Amino acid sequence: MGLYHCEGIILRTRGFGEADRIVTLFTKEKGKIEAVARGARRPRNRLVGVTQQFSYLKALIFTGKSLDQISQAELIKSFAPLRDDLLKMAYATWWAEILDVFLPLNEVNSEVFLFLLAGLVVLEKVPDPMLVSRAFELRLLKYLGYEPVLDRCVSCQKAEGPFVGFAPTEGGLFCRSCAGAAGVNLIPVRPAALSFLRDLYQADLRELARRPVDPALGNELGQLLFTFIQLRAEKTLKSLSFLQSLMAWTPPEADLN
Ligand SMILES: [Zn+2]
Repeated sequence: MGLYHCEGIILRTRGFGEADRIVTLFTKEKGKIEAVARGARRPRNRLVGVTQQFSYLKALIFTGKSLDQISQAELIKSFAPLRDDLLKMAYATWWAEILDVFLPLNEVNSEVFLFLLAGLVVLEKVPDPMLVSRAFELRLLKYLGYEPVLDRCVSCQKAEGPFVGFAPTEGGLFCRSCAGAAGVNLIPVRPAALSFLRDLYQADLRELARRPVDPALGNELGQLLFTFIQLRAEKTLKSLSFLQSLMAWTPPEADLN
C-alpha cells in the first residue's frame, strides 16, 4: 500500500460496478497504468469531469491490493475539442488504442508520453488530421519498436530499388526481384508516396498540420500503415474500423482544406 503522484493522459475509460470508472492512464512517471475512479459515474462526483477520455491530469494514486485507486485528481488540460468533434475523436481514439494495445503495463516511456501529448495538442487544432495522423502512426511504430523498413529491400537489403511494394508481414519494402521470388502479399506504393513517408519520420507535426492535405496520398499511406499496425496488433482494432467508416463517409468538400 502506498501513494504516488503522477501526470498522465487517459487512453480509455470503462464502467466498473455501479458508479465507478476504470481508467487506463498513460503516465509520464509509471508508464501505462489502470486505476479506478470511485464514484466517477455519479453526476456530482468530483472525479467526473477529470476522468474523461483524453483528459490530461495530475493525480494522486493510492496503490491497492488488486486495483490502484485515484485518490485526488486535477485537470491540466481537458482536450475537450477532441471529444466534441466526431472525426477528431475517432483519430484520438485510434491513437489511444494503438498505445493501449502495444504498451505493456507499468513500463516507463516518457518519450512516447511527450510525443502523445504533443500529438494531441496538434490534433486539437489541425483542420484535417489525415497527414498528421499518418506521421503520428509511423513515429509511434518507431518508438514502440515496430519501425517499418522504408530505406531498403527487407529481403536482400539493397537500397537501390526499384521497390514494387510494402509487405506488411515482413515489415518492409520489397524490390522487384525479391518480390517475384518470395511471393509475398504486397501493398503497392508509388515512389512519391514512399519518399513522403520517409520524410514523415523527421516531420514536425505542427509544421505538417499547416500543409495542404492530399487525400489520395493520405489514403495510400493509410492503407499501408493500417494494414501493418493491424497485423502487428494481433487483435481487431475497433477504433480503426470506426475511423475508416467515418473517413469513407466524410463528404468530399471536407477533404479540400
Ligand atoms: Zn530485394
